[in-house]
Amino acid sequence: MKHITQHYIGGKFVDSVGQEKFELVNPATNMLIGTVLLGNEEDTRHAIAAAKAAFKTYSLTTPADRAVYLQRFHDAVAARTNEHVQALVEEYGGPQQMAQFLVKASCDAILSVKESLKDVPFKKMVGQAEVSLHPVGVAGHITPWNANIMYFCNKTAAALAAGCTVVTKPSEMSALQTQILMECVDAAGLPAGLINIVNGRGDVVGVELTTNPDVAKISFTGSTAVGKSIAARGADTLKRVTLELGGKSAHIVLEDADLNKALPFILQSGFMNSGQACIAGTRILVPESRYDEITTALKQAVEQLKVGLPQESDTAVGPMVSRTQYKRVQGYINAGIEEGAEILTGGPGYPAGLTEGNFVKPTVFVNVTNDMTIAREEIFGPVLCVISYRNEQEAIDIANDSPYGLAGYVSGEDVARAKKVAEQMQTGAVSINAFGHTPFAPFGGMKQSGIGRENGAYGIQSYLEYKTIA
Ligand code: NAD
Repeated sequence: MKHITQHYIGGKFVDSVGQEKFELVNPATNMLIGTVLLGNEEDTRHAIAAAKAAFKTYSLTTPADRAVYLQRFHDAVAARTNEHVQALVEEYGGPQQMAQFLVKASCDAILSVKESLKDVPFKKMVGQAEVSLHPVGVAGHITPWNANIMYFCNKTAAALAAGCTVVTKPSEMSALQTQILMECVDAAGLPAGLINIVNGRGDVVGVELTTNPDVAKISFTGSTAVGKSIAARGADTLKRVTLELGGKSAHIVLEDADLNKALPFILQSGFMNSGQACIAGTRILVPESRYDEITTALKQAVEQLKVGLPQESDTAVGPMVSRTQYKRVQGYINAGIEEGAEILTGGPGYPAGLTEGNFVKPTVFVNVTNDMTIAREEIFGPVLCVISYRNEQEAIDIANDSPYGLAGYVSGEDVARAKKVAEQMQTGAVSINAFGHTPFAPFGGMKQSGIGRENGAYGIQSYLEYKTIA
């Protein structure tokens, strides 16, 4: 049992002024595994002041200086790989394989940002004018629980690469993971005040960060509802915002798809992180001509997935992060039934033998129409909707008929045709036939899935502003 009582501010661990205690619960057992003291506005202002003081000198460093810091940041995080993986598994129930992928991807993200420094045009001549890029100032970062380490590393690296200093408010549900990250930051021995971390709630620490005039930019990853409130609150001080929000991504299975490839792709994109992934491909669009064949094969494939304890290496679907999230997913499963969709496999309640934690049966609905609640709203659990289409244009129209536009998936043997379909999907990214991990390419959403892009040089540029000297 761990009791976390400190934040990381100005290059050292400091006691929390805020005294609200938050309980950390293992979602696979619902047993208490720790507590964290949540910071308040004073803790947050202290961290912002430390970042502001550090910005004065850090903003004058060269990209080469920053590359050295990024390497140190990377090495310190990578050195604790096994502990990060364990904490992800224990604290949010991340399945072992996913946890390992996330930790490696987080370390790689820092290195890809470092490498991308060479692609940022910090200075160039435009006609008679010299155009240069300058760090915006103190960056406030707010992360979700579903891949806290990934967002922490990616956002921090991009901000540091640009010459910004940072205050992060991680998810209060990720405090054990955050504690290890704080220790990594401390071990990296960076100048004091570059990276500050305050544990706390969104409506306290998050609100102070998003309204404080000394914070120039907010990079937020989380739900669309909170993202909108952040954009609105930040408007008063004209904060730059990067918002990485929710999704309801479509997977278009084309008529010529090879099910030997398409099914594993549907399962991977639909159930990744136990369905608790912003980019999950949860609307499966299948051609009417192959409806019975595909749904029969999908049922068999889903029923072979292992739902179980996240620490077991063959677990595909672990528990939902919390009791609240379990109930929310159950609510959507019941809404699907009430609105007339039919359960192909799964359904309400716990999977057999898994009643202690927040486990959900991987569920597939058929006879879904795109206007049903389960097809429109982000469920954030292992629930897929199968929707049939008559022709390619209708598939594209259904895919685009969503308030969201984060990711998309296409399965089809004729790759040129699949690419034409991908080009018409209104989303920030589309993967064809296999999940594409693209750390140098921009990541972000269209429509209500967000504003701005992260990753590589695109991520660094979102912390920079142009200056013209003529
Ligand atoms: P959430 O929006 O509830 O919380 C995210 C973060 O915002 C947490 O740190 C929380 O404490 C903070 N927060 C809450 N209220 C706040 C407020 N009023 N002001 C400032 N901060 C506040 O989301 P969650 O449940 O932690 O994460 C799941 C959501 O995140 C899903 O909607 C998912 O799609 C989204 N997500 C998006 C991406 C992406 O890159 N697009 C990635 C991962 C998760």
